[in-house]
Amino acid sequence: MQIKENTVATIEYTLTDDSGEVLDTSRGSEPLSYIHGVGGLVPGLEAELEGKSAGDTLKVRIAPEDAYGERDEDLVARVPRSQMPGGADLEVGMQFQASGPDGGEVVTLVRVEDDAVWLDSNHPLAGMHLNFDVTVVSVRAATREEMQHGHVHGQGGHHH
Ligand SMILES: [Zn+2]
Repeated sequence: MQIKENTVATIEYTLTDDSGEVLDTSRGSEPLSYIHGVGGLVPGLEAELEGKSAGDTLKVRIAPEDAYGERDEDLVARVPRSQMPGGADLEVGMQFQASGPDGGEVVTLVRVEDDAVWLDSNHPLAGMHLNFDVTVVSVRAATREEMQHGHVHGQGGHHH
């Protein structure tokens, strides 16, 4: 079976940046299962996986516009320390889970001043080319229940 809309694909993947640093990998833990065509992966990777079958491997480089988008400097904001939890323990590189319109948005602390900090709410991978090394483990039809829920059930997915 080939990967197309309404199939569940299970993949092993390693994600590296352009310097070769590993940013994320499924290898050594559970493979990733997703429903193809519902936006579960970055668009560029989904497009590359279309038509692939179990056992296929691919190495692709995805441009920012087909991944997490370009960086938007308007998303970097100065916030008074008084509005930050954690008081004195604020350090550059810390990440916080903010409750935004899209749910769990991650913001990164990028600069510390005496009385304020700068928070960057760009996606941590915004503006980056993403290099994926993928092996397709299996492909099957999604069940009606999975299509209704919009996520995978069973191995590599939700158990409920
Ligand atoms: Zn479900």
